[in-house]
Amino acid sequence: MPKGNPGKPKSKEHNLKNKEAQLRLYASGKTKMGYQKGNNNIAKRLDIRKKISMALTGLIRTKEWTEKNRLANIGKHCGELNPMWKGGLSLRGYDKGFSRILKRAIKSRDYNICQLCYSVSGEKNLLIHHIDYNKKNNKSTNLISLCKSCHGKTNHNRNYWTLNFITLIVCNSLNR
Ligand SMILES: [Zn+2]
Repeated sequence: MPKGNPGKPKSKEHNLKNKEAQLRLYASGKTKMGYQKGNNNIAKRLDIRKKISMALTGLIRTKEWTEKNRLANIGKHCGELNPMWKGGLSLRGYDKGFSRILKRAIKSRDYNICQLCYSVSGEKNLLIHHIDYNKKNNKSTNLISLCKSCHGKTNHNRNYWTLNFITLIVCNSLNR
């Protein structure tokens, strides 16, 4: 706020004139009591605060309210309805036949261990690898369980790994 001329004492007459001018300004409605020009924080304004308070009345988030809202919104943000939906990107290239059930069955067939390093890292850490790199070929003979580390290796020397895994699958099936 500019302080005008603080070095010069103001006369009573001057102060009174100033006060009257301020009151006239308030009365005209161009400015409001309680806050000053230049204060941009509208949330501090009494009238705004009252409006916010009124808007919040009745909107206290009780457990019932939250539950009701949750039930009303179920499925409203799934798949294509989600604003982040990018057209089924995560499923791109994979066939619908490559299901959770199939993956579990393959892991179970492979005793839930990585078929390359035989590490027991648990079912959750196993990935199902497509031996011929064709994500649509979901025959059990084309699928093998690998740990994350070994699966990373299969990105290179594809021909080598394909041959290696085919041999492995054939041997395993003969042993059963
Ligand atoms: Zn491994």
